[in-house]
Amino acid sequence: MSETAKPDWWPLYHEEGSTEFSRIGKDWRTLRVAELEALGHRKRPLLSLIRQNCIDCGGGSEAEVRQCAIARCPFWPYRMNTNPIAAPQSEERRTASGERLRRLRTKQADFAENSPLASSFAAAEASGGVEIAA
Ligand code: SF4
Repeated sequence: MSETAKPDWWPLYHEEGSTEFSRIGKDWRTLRVAELEALGHRKRPLLSLIRQNCIDCGGGSEAEVRQCAIARCPFWPYRMNTNPIAAPQSEERRTASGERLRRLRTKQADFAENSPLASSFAAAEASGGVEIAA
């Protein structure tokens, strides 16, 4: 594909009235999600993106990333896919999270035991799946 045949949204500037593409990247805020996806981007947690970048930086080696000594690199504290600088959760917040999780598990167990839908799903699963008529 020649450069001039690239679509409008190609992430390089196409100067007004010119057939030449600049090497300056487009402002991503002007791109739609589908266009970003067409470029291979997808929604991912930022820590996992940093980790992936570090693995690329380390030549594909996780050991290199673990042993990285470039502590001045802005990614260095986050290279192991964790955020050691994040504020620790308060005891109150941890308790509330645990309570929410307990309530959710109780609801799930209740659904699995008592919902007619759950027993239909279980029966369908046991018989090898559900056929949907066209
Ligand atoms: S912390 Fe910086 S220098 Fe170290 S692996 Fe990650 S990107 Fe590379």
